[in-house]
Amino acid sequence: MNKETIINQLFASTRFSIIAGPCAVESEQQLDLLARKLSFLGVEIFRGGAFKSRTSPDSFQGLGVKGLQLLQKIASKYKMIAISEIMSENQLEAAAKYVDIMQVGARNMQNIPLLKAIGKQKKPVLLKRGFGSTINEVVEATKYISDQGNQKIILCERGIRTFEPATRFTLDLSSVPIFKEKTPYPVFVDPSHASGRAKLVPFLSRAALAIGADGLMIEVHETPQKARSDGLQSLTPIQFSKLLDFLKPMAGLLGKKI
Ligand code: PEP
Ligand code: MN
Repeated sequence: MNKETIINQLFASTRFSIIAGPCAVESEQQLDLLARKLSFLGVEIFRGGAFKSRTSPDSFQGLGVKGLQLLQKIASKYKMIAISEIMSENQLEAAAKYVDIMQVGARNMQNIPLLKAIGKQKKPVLLKRGFGSTINEVVEATKYISDQGNQKIILCERGIRTFEPATRFTLDLSSVPIFKEKTPYPVFVDPSHASGRAKLVPFLSRAALAIGADGLMIEVHETPQKARSDGLQSLTPIQFSKLLDFLKPMAGLLGKKI
């Protein structure tokens, strides 16, 4: 399938799209091995962070432009499209070359200059909800992008900070129908960052599909215990494959294709 078709399907309401890949691009071999498995499972949108917005400056910060290049190389090798996070305006030029969907991370959801700059370019944008932001603030943030001319926006609920420490964040699933009521954009759910725990990812994924989300963003790593970031919440390819097997008939019942 060509890039345009994959992107058009993502915006089609009859689809439940899956974005999958590692939290961070670590090496070419890591991406190649994983991409081969994911594309075999039908994944068309490959994620991988190159500019990592880590909580601590002591954590792995990503491979930068080199990471974007590797992501693009491997995604196209397996006929997938690439999505990666852009943290600042000066990364946009490189991203325009190597990435098919630009991601704005939770920590940057209200970075107005970044939103405006990303609104001026033509590639689709996945805007993640800030973990301290209300639904309305997310909706307002989309306007900074669309006012510049780019309407190809995808929203992503990824959990908000509450008093509950049992999960990394609290997945606010009620935002999904509200975003859909307030905006014309597809709404994705990221159960990986929301829960912070691989075991919970299948449960939250099913709930996201049931509540009407348009897709999922899931972190997958060949060896989660060795991942340079977010290993605890990453599924192995086998766990991911089992999750897809569960979701496919469920999506069918809802009239959607995975
Ligand atoms: C990510 O998806 O790579 C990420 C850092 O997520 P978030 O911005 O939601 O924390
Ligand atoms: Mn991550």
